[in-house]
Amino acid sequence: MYIVHIATELAPVAKVGGLGDVIYGLSKELARQGHTVEIILPKYDCLSFSELKNLKVEHRELWSFDGPQRFNNTVWSANVDGLKLLLIEPHHPQYYFSRGVIYGCHDDIDRFTYFSRVAMEYLFKTGKQPDAIHVHDWPTALVPVLYKDLYKPLGYKTAGTVLTIHNVEHQGKCQPHNLSRVGLRGDSYLVPEKMQDPFSSNLVNLLKGGIEYADRVTTVSPTYEKEIQTPEGGFGLQDVLIKNYKKLKGILNGIDEDFWNPEKDPYLIQKYPTHGIAKDKLSDVLKGKKENKRYLRTHLRLKDSDAPLVASVTRLVPQKSPGLIKHALTRTVEKGGQFILLGSSPINHVHKEFEALQELLKDDGNATILLDKDEALAHLIFSAADMFIIPSLFEPCGLTQLIALRYGAVPIARMTGGLVDTVFDCDKSTRPADERNGFTFDFPDSKGVDWALLRALECYKKEPQKWQSLMLNGMRQDFSWKHAAPEYIALYRELPVQEEPEKLKTKKQDLRSASAR
Ligand code: ADP
Repeated sequence: MYIVHIATELAPVAKVGGLGDVIYGLSKELARQGHTVEIILPKYDCLSFSELKNLKVEHRELWSFDGPQRFNNTVWSANVDGLKLLLIEPHHPQYYFSRGVIYGCHDDIDRFTYFSRVAMEYLFKTGKQPDAIHVHDWPTALVPVLYKDLYKPLGYKTAGTVLTIHNVEHQGKCQPHNLSRVGLRGDSYLVPEKMQDPFSSNLVNLLKGGIEYADRVTTVSPTYEKEIQTPEGGFGLQDVLIKNYKKLKGILNGIDEDFWNPEKDPYLIQKYPTHGIAKDKLSDVLKGKKENKRYLRTHLRLKDSDAPLVASVTRLVPQKSPGLIKHALTRTVEKGGQFILLGSSPINHVHKEFEALQELLKDDGNATILLDKDEALAHLIFSAADMFIIPSLFEPCGLTQLIALRYGAVPIARMTGGLVDTVFDCDKSTRPADERNGFTFDFPDSKGVDWALLRALECYKKEPQKWQSLMLNGMRQDFSWKHAAPEYIALYRELPVQEEPEKLKTKKQDLRSASAR
């Protein structure tokens, strides 16, 4: 099959969080299984250009609209680990993608609706016929709307569309005129059955548009699929999701086995075996983790000790319960453990709060806070950690617990979303003993954290055999994309049947001379 992702992140060239990992890992697995994959991304000025191979101009001229004006765009192509990328560079006075950031600008709506329109224009003008156009979260959720209401009427009918909801909290609420800017009749979408926001009747909601217009909607874990259909988890879109339940499916994310592999990870000081390891390799795992821990302790000026190392690598946003991460840090140190937090926050007051704590811990020697985004350090922390804490309020899938499991760090997780589907409590899970891989708690409060964290610290100290079994159970589990990719393929195959090639060819010839407006 031929699949085109239209997305705003791709690891490792443009990664903010899990979305980047997912586009990369899923695309690589689809390609490995023999499918053709292309990824259309904005050409951000902050791309990691060193990771791009064969960067070259593919199309010098691709005109598109923003309000009454037309702007030219250059389409570049490049390769990342064998994946084909198409990068859109607008020649627009607002320099939409030359801001040094991926998200967080006052005009993000305009940046990404413009990008969505240009991406569709590119597919239309080049006559590409993907079997599936796959879009992700609110920034590209307008694509299925543009496809059905603008490009399909013009005869472009080569694919079905799939929307994946990675996080329903962010929805892209905006004014109808934001849609008009990219060639749609904005006011006509301000009705409940189209894009009207369920809470603010004068606003349109881009994610809702994607849900209503895409042929299939997926989300990133089976439990999150259920949660987003409830008032607690749906952030106002629960009724829209319930109405569209027939096209909704939860497919558990994976992690890329090469990118996250302690056996080959270039960022580690000492590599060590994982996945499928037998008990006799345990000593190599322990030795590898010890070396990485030793290095990290020296590097981060933590005391040399036998204390268990608890870690967190996260965006510091309300979803991730920054307050409980702080609590876990304090409690860990109180109980004789060590704690490393690598976090970054787009929220000023949260950043400041952690900066203050960082200052307090400056000479502590048992806890350290790094307020940064650092891929290399993240890999090293996963490899060194004994435990990994995830006290999220909600977690659509969560990748850090999967990475932690693969690196032999035992997760301590709050039971929500994908964490329910992947972390199984060593004491209270009903799963067979050899599938239990962590410590869990139900309520996102300090009592909940204490209950799981203290059990974990006790187990580490007093029951080394049990601890090692937990580690091995986690490292044996296969959370690669091998399982999810065929589920996506099955879903792409269900998409509307294509027109016969002859009819399509005639239409394409007509279209090339027509304007897409
Ligand atoms: P989310 O997408 O909500 O941020 P996920 O658990 O799905 O959470 O994915 C987070 C991804 O981002 C993981 O690959 C994690 O290692 C990475 N990450 C998060 N914070 C940082 C950071 N400060 N530095 C480096 N990598 C980070």
